[in-house]
Amino acid sequence: MRPSSFMRLTAHAGGRRLPGSLVLLIGLVFASPARADDSFAALFDAGATLRVDFLRTGGHDSESVGLDALIREGPWAGPRTGLVKYGDTGEHRVVMELAGPNDAEAEADANAEAEVVFALGFSSLFAEWQSTPEARGGMRRAFHETVRVPFPRRPVTLRLESRDGQGDFKTKAVIPVDPAGRHIRPPKLTWGSIPSIEVQVVAPSDQALDVLIVGDGYTEADLPKYRRDVARFARALLESAPMRERRDLINVRALEVTSNDRGPTEPRKGLWRFTALSTTFDTFGLARYLTTVDNLAMRDIAGTAPYDTVLIMVNTSRYGGAGVYNLYGIFPSDNEFDEYVLLHEFGHGFAGLGDEYFSSEVTYEGFYTEGVEPWEPNLTALLDPDDVKWGDLIADDTPCPTPPDPERYGGDTVGCFEGAGYQAEGLFRPALDCKMFGKGQTAFCPVCARAIGQLIDHHAGR
Ligand SMILES: [Zn+2]
Repeated sequence: MRPSSFMRLTAHAGGRRLPGSLVLLIGLVFASPARADDSFAALFDAGATLRVDFLRTGGHDSESVGLDALIREGPWAGPRTGLVKYGDTGEHRVVMELAGPNDAEAEADANAEAEVVFALGFSSLFAEWQSTPEARGGMRRAFHETVRVPFPRRPVTLRLESRDGQGDFKTKAVIPVDPAGRHIRPPKLTWGSIPSIEVQVVAPSDQALDVLIVGDGYTEADLPKYRRDVARFARALLESAPMRERRDLINVRALEVTSNDRGPTEPRKGLWRFTALSTTFDTFGLARYLTTVDNLAMRDIAGTAPYDTVLIMVNTSRYGGAGVYNLYGIFPSDNEFDEYVLLHEFGHGFAGLGDEYFSSEVTYEGFYTEGVEPWEPNLTALLDPDDVKWGDLIADDTPCPTPPDPERYGGDTVGCFEGAGYQAEGLFRPALDCKMFGKGQTAFCPVCARAIGQLIDHHAGR
């Protein structure tokens, strides 16, 4: 999603509702922490990560997923417990099941259901593109995407799912994986082959969140500037709540990737730059929407180092950015709002937070479906004011919906403020202001801060 601005267009398909199906997944495998470590080692090879590349193609209301490649990447940097905990987040999700029992076992237990051992949500540029005028006009496009999962020791089945208009996950592809098979190839760029800066490495990857900064539009001559920029933005990230209180749980590394050209592509100015990650403004016709669709290059480069979340730092002074859950956060290096964009896009890319801003200028519809609860932890359709997802943070004397009165309900007051997710009506945000709402100095609101904090703790195995 884009950083907030005066121009607030939306692009998206379908709404979401908490799916019932995942209730079945929770707690299937890892009953206790003690058993969890054993379970992980029994099921997965922590020395590798399975990268699944695929193409997602389609139009406004159609979608198809096809496998591109299975790749054995470097050590697994993600959590080793709670492996299905974030399985009902995102626009899409990957679900890993142990492959079916053999004939004898099947006969003995004919009703056995496949055991889900991993599930994780993510979002995509495709899902945003689906309700652009281009898609609504009948265009079809293809996007390269990746999910990364722990490397299984036994044959498994991967299911790639997407939410339908009601927010329920539907299977789009079923991919059998035999870890001993010859169809899994090594990565193009080997582990550690790109020089990296260890800004701070405080713990092994399974006990920390691994943040990876990748620069784009920095030439060889720009490397000294790159290093200064890395230091500044790492500091901005680590010194903001709720990261500040958890800075001893966060590893930050930066890859020294150089580009032929300086700065990103700016199509409206006729500036086409050849850079390592092909970042560009004007994505989907939105001037400030700074993204890359070169997933292959981004994943090849990032895969040379441990990472849970990627931040792409673009060498430009122009305002723009993007954040897509479990894909990346992108921010500019030299804009007056650059540190705000970094944190805002980190909120999207790492924690799946929704945009809390809205505007009467918005003319697009359909980003969130009426009557369907958004999956994002900081947005609600308030279908039941007595049962708000962040209700435990709302004081007894704060009404819901909450009047937009900064005198009585400003600051850190948590309530249900109407106007969020690009809509002035029908969607509610937790606080009057937040890093996901305004462009100012405001911190993350208590609900967003809690969501980020819990996810950092999850990555740190806490
Ligand atoms: Zn918030």
